[in-house]
Amino acid sequence: MPEGGARKVILPARYVQGQGVLGQLGVYVRQHGSKPFAVSGRTSWSRVKARVQASLLQAGVPLAGHDDTVTECTHLKINEVVARVEALEADIVIGCGGGKAVDTAKAVSEKLQLPVITVPTQCATNADQMADAVVFSEDHRFIEDIYLSQAPVLVLVDTEVVARAPPVFLVQGMGDALACGFEKPAYAETMRAKKSQEQATNAALEVNLRCFQTLMSYGIQAKKDVEAGRITDAVESVVEAIKLQSGFGFGGGGCAAAHAVHNGLTIMPGIARKHGEIVAYGTLVQMALEKRPMGEVERVMRWCRELGLPIRLEDLGTLDMSHLQKAAEKACDPNDSMANMPFPVTPNMVTQAMREVDLLATKLG
Ligand SMILES: [Zn+2]
Repeated sequence: MPEGGARKVILPARYVQGQGVLGQLGVYVRQHGSKPFAVSGRTSWSRVKARVQASLLQAGVPLAGHDDTVTECTHLKINEVVARVEALEADIVIGCGGGKAVDTAKAVSEKLQLPVITVPTQCATNADQMADAVVFSEDHRFIEDIYLSQAPVLVLVDTEVVARAPPVFLVQGMGDALACGFEKPAYAETMRAKKSQEQATNAALEVNLRCFQTLMSYGIQAKKDVEAGRITDAVESVVEAIKLQSGFGFGGGGCAAAHAVHNGLTIMPGIARKHGEIVAYGTLVQMALEKRPMGEVERVMRWCRELGLPIRLEDLGTLDMSHLQKAAEKACDPNDSMANMPFPVTPNMVTQAMREVDLLATKLG
């Protein structure tokens, strides 16, 4: 390995986004296989089933089988789907839905070394384009992250589908994507200083910063448009920011304080917000840890508030604050992404940063 490590990105082979693009699914499937198997959750499947089946049929590659019962990406579910795909001799996997369904599809494709296509049905996650699958237990405890030998051969984002999902998903996706504009630069700086084997690319840095600018410029408008049932340029730009830009060049690394704070807070009894919402709050905490200018933090905070993303601890739920110290300690777990910050972060610094964020939120009124 060269001194100072290697720069790498892991990207989907093809990314297609737009209104009605689901109709092209069959044509793309045919480039990689002839017996597709679809994996999804029940609600997602009911939303796309007719269009998926029609497109596959029209392209002469009808569905060999499907499983629409994914509620969690567990080893049990993955093995169950693997057995069915093998029995049917399917040769390409299509994951339709949110994170759990596409992660299950990706894990199955990895086990069988088959190509995978992801078809997101909402925007709460960028799992569709990532080359990993997060496995949970039945009761939603993190088990492991499976890294794929290749990213999806196609991410097919039909804006008509994702923009018609409840608007809260778009907001959650924006909250998660917000972090990349801060975590990636922190991660890149740390990896450079450490002369780590894993180095960020300048391309990924640029795209992540562009993602942040897009969210700031169009995020609020996009939410209004989706609420009004309009698919506009603002919506398309924000969907691209969430689906493509936020995960660009992630390649198994790129998180820093925002996700570490999220991971710590998830142990708090009473936490009532979803991943992207907690990550948005974690981003504000990271900004405070980095001692960014007040005006900059305030700008992001106002944006979060406008979208309904949490800006103070009490927005996260009816928290049992006696667990806060423990949460801060977990956020600083040396095996978690807090270690990717360019300076050492202690639990006390985390609780202090949370207090600063709370104070600023109170000032905003
Ligand atoms: Zn995330």
